[in-house]
Amino acid sequence: MKNLAVLTSGGDSPGMNACIRAIVRSANHKNINTFGIQYGYNGLIKNNIKILLPEEVSNTIHIGGTILKSARSEEFFSKKGRKKAYQNLKMNNIDGMIVLGGDGSLTGAKIFGDEFKFNIIGIPCTIDNDVYGTDYSIGFATARETIVNSIDKIRDTAASHERIFIVEVMGRESGYLALESGVASGAELILIPENKNSMTDVINKLKKINNKKKSVIIVYAEGCKFGSLNEFSQKIKDSISNSNVRFSILGHIQRGGIPSPSDRILASILGYESINQIIKGKTNKMIGIKNQKPILINLDDVISKKKNVDLSLIEISNIISKY
Ligand code: ATP
Repeated sequence: MKNLAVLTSGGDSPGMNACIRAIVRSANHKNINTFGIQYGYNGLIKNNIKILLPEEVSNTIHIGGTILKSARSEEFFSKKGRKKAYQNLKMNNIDGMIVLGGDGSLTGAKIFGDEFKFNIIGIPCTIDNDVYGTDYSIGFATARETIVNSIDKIRDTAASHERIFIVEVMGRESGYLALESGVASGAELILIPENKNSMTDVINKLKKINNKKKSVIIVYAEGCKFGSLNEFSQKIKDSISNSNVRFSILGHIQRGGIPSPSDRILASILGYESINQIIKGKTNKMIGIKNQKPILINLDDVISKKKNVDLSLIEISNIISKY
């Protein structure tokens, strides 16, 4: 292998730059050139591809977002779009590609690898941590820290005014971020889509908590189906007399920021390992982390299997967040 390409796709996540840096430097160590593709699959289709020199990734390990930019690409869903992408890789004499992204981006990578028999390695990068086959995705630890820092601040005001505060966190259909940040911030109630609660359950639990504690933090995963946060708050107000309810949507603040040391280390390990594996001829695989060691997982499994959250954490939280 002489030339390989790297792209970042889907939602950006802190630590992507640390991973790009590890890829470029590890490839250089093996005398392989790395080409950076800008704007994800859109850039690949538009031939937005240029060489990325080892010195160009200097001073990027601590920067959030992605220096390669990211995008969602409608065109890559079609065979016609993917064919253009393949032709551009061939034109640039590129014979392998490393894709950094979440489950959508990895699905696109798998389809592309199968279709054109192209060497592909995926690296899980998403704050949602919902990618099957890896304990952690790059960006999750930083987002979790951002959420916990935000909830700590919200707790001060919630306690001062004796409010019930609902904090909505990202995660699409997955409750990973909500669960771990809820436990770490001592939330009184954690609501995630994987743990089916009816509105009546929620109100009953809240009543019990509110009997003793007037200030309550509810961590609410965005994938929960209790209607809009306005409607959800109103239902609580209607059911618990004299309740003082507020909500806060943390939003895109969760995506940005300086990557945490653990995300930088994870990014460095996975980036380095992706080069080791692609030069061994491994393809259509994702590099993940299990028990702190890098592992290879078939992209087939990554995209067809669902990662389960550890519901025992909810049990623990239920017991230790009340008295
Ligand atoms: P995040 O979880 O952070 O949102 P993601 O990688 O899951 O990241 P998506 O928006 O789901 O983000 O996917 C990113 C891009 O991957 C899509 O815009 C599309 O270009 C490509 N992609 C996703 N699914 C497919 C598919 N089935 N076929 C081809 N390409 C796909």
